[in-house]
Amino acid sequence: MYIGIDFGGTNIRAAVVDKSGNLIHKNRIRTGDTSNYSVFLKRFIDFIQSTKKDFDIKGIGIGFPGSISKQQKIIVAPNLGWKNIDLRSDLSSQLNIPVILDNDVNMAICGEKWLGAAQDFSDFFMLTIGTGVGGAFFVGNNIYTGTGNNAGEIGHINIEPGGIECACGKKGCLEQYASATALINFARRNLISNKESLLNDIELKDIEAQHIYDAGKQGDRFALQAIDYNLKNLAIGIAAVVNLMNPQAIIIGGGVSHAGDFLLKRLRPFLKYYCLDFSYKDLVVRLASLGDEAGIFGSVYRHLK
Ligand SMILES: [Zn+2]
Repeated sequence: MYIGIDFGGTNIRAAVVDKSGNLIHKNRIRTGDTSNYSVFLKRFIDFIQSTKKDFDIKGIGIGFPGSISKQQKIIVAPNLGWKNIDLRSDLSSQLNIPVILDNDVNMAICGEKWLGAAQDFSDFFMLTIGTGVGGAFFVGNNIYTGTGNNAGEIGHINIEPGGIECACGKKGCLEQYASATALINFARRNLISNKESLLNDIELKDIEAQHIYDAGKQGDRFALQAIDYNLKNLAIGIAAVVNLMNPQAIIIGGGVSHAGDFLLKRLRPFLKYYCLDFSYKDLVVRLASLGDEAGIFGSVYRHLK
């Protein structure tokens, strides 16, 4: 059996999974204070020990929210305040177990490939749309990482030179126009001139992407305008991927995918418009199916591959 771990900024969730993909046992802790790495490491190891104590564990996989090198070192994890940390080797030496660590999107795509929406595909791209827009590739049945494990950063394709400033330091990146955060910001900025919108019932600061999608599903004109602006921008980014790599499928995951088929229905016309006809013709566009568990299963899959 294996342990798959989804390392989030708020919670760390772990699960014991067998090699057929059955989830045997779950455990979680608050991520808590990470400012002192060695104090955190001790707490994290205690958590893993308590998760594995009743099982014969052959390996641990971790999906991590940060930039991970090809050598599986944490280069930077802005949410945790970490830089140049070798969590993987600290864990494997102290627990005496093989550990695989990669960024959360790479782990999520592996989960969808193994047990989720991408089982039928060898060449596909997965996006995760939430606070930002992440992405990862499968090419020829293997994850494609690029030379420094940075492939798939669709969120930082420039769609508006000189546009909105991005956390990466550039201006005009896709995620500033197509993430859930971008959708919320658009609604907050423009709601003032749309008095008839259902969204006026919600405090401006409390508006979430879910509210906007719910209003859109009820036919709210302003919500639909905000959603379509967001999805049009997303389609420009996806079309760049489709035209470049001609994949079998695009898999859409992350928080925004909860909007379901409604999202796909509104996205498809934009994709048809921006993708090359011959690449769009056979393209499957599908929602991810494993939700928050994708990274956990993907972390286990990496030991089996
Ligand atoms: Zn950027």
